[in-house]
Amino acid sequence: MLVHICCAVDSHYFLQKLREHYPEDDLVGYFYDPNIHPYSEYYLRLLDVRRSCKKLGISLIEGDYNYRGWLEAVKGYEDEPEKGARCDLCFDNRLESTAQKAQELGIGSITTTLLTSPKKSLEQLRSAGEAVSERYGVRFEAPDFRVKGGTQEQFAMAKEEKLYHQDYCGCIYALTKQRESQDRLADELFSPITKQIQPESIEDRIRLYETREELEDRGGLYEIIRESFLNYRLLRSWVKIDKQIVPSYILPYSQMRRKFLKSRIDKKIENIYLSRHENIYFLDLEAFNQLAKSKYKNVKDILQNPLDFEDELGIRSQIVQNPYALTPIIIVDKIEMESKFELYLEAKNYQDTREHLVKLS
Ligand code: SF4
Repeated sequence: MLVHICCAVDSHYFLQKLREHYPEDDLVGYFYDPNIHPYSEYYLRLLDVRRSCKKLGISLIEGDYNYRGWLEAVKGYEDEPEKGARCDLCFDNRLESTAQKAQELGIGSITTTLLTSPKKSLEQLRSAGEAVSERYGVRFEAPDFRVKGGTQEQFAMAKEEKLYHQDYCGCIYALTKQRESQDRLADELFSPITKQIQPESIEDRIRLYETREELEDRGGLYEIIRESFLNYRLLRSWVKIDKQIVPSYILPYSQMRRKFLKSRIDKKIENIYLSRHENIYFLDLEAFNQLAKSKYKNVKDILQNPLDFEDELGIRSQIVQNPYALTPIIIVDKIEMESKFELYLEAKNYQDTREHLVKLS
């Protein structure tokens, strides 16, 4: 049986149940989910599915990430709610590919782990599966393993196995709507031009889950702990000195009461230039290199090869004494006393949760 897989939380339980209920069938996994946006989230879910299949001894075929094709398939239905008409088209798209693959491989039946997701409509999935099974001449199996406490058992298993638990269905449309209704920043949808890994970004989670995999391969013991913390994202900024835009680099947790400020440098303490107007700190490249013990050639070089986020926090703590301070700290190539500047800074601080991997001895 070719089993379309959407994520490890659903597949790890569903595949084991399938083995119990279809003992005669050889199971082959098929990860085909071009609906998942962005690609980094797709890759993260794939990583966890690979790990789950490896644990269960089930071979896995990775389908194409045909995002453009999926967008075409749901075109015109972007505003539909979850379980609406867009989801019908999404299921058609993924199950059609599964049926095609089964036909190509000479496999007689298909199913999907979506059937065990408590947020999906069984009727929608059954009708999509039956339609493709007729077209491709394969059988569609639609067992319901959610009943009789199945969902609770599935979630307990996911916790026990430390599976990656995503918090949105997958597509950009559902994600945007969900974050709007939660009044939460959709930080999955943007990444910094510096390519720095931001706390609790998808890239941060990939790093954690890859480290976990290496650790497991070496037989290491670990726990994954969730912690609540104050997160930060710089959304947009620019600096003008004497009316000219100059390259600038903003240290994390820099925040202003208003987004725009026009002022001048009126104080220098050691190698830090200050505008007392709103307590803005400027560092020139030389001062930054001294604090960071780095050899950046200019600010563009910092933008292209930034330090780690944690190292930047370390620099911040050398400049401001209060660990909770949101003082803007701006790096520019050069600045002088009495320089007039304009600063636009749009950033967000927000409560978030982050997973940590704790190695056990
Ligand atoms: S909400 Fe989920 S099932 Fe519906 S279209 Fe988006 S990804 Fe597909």
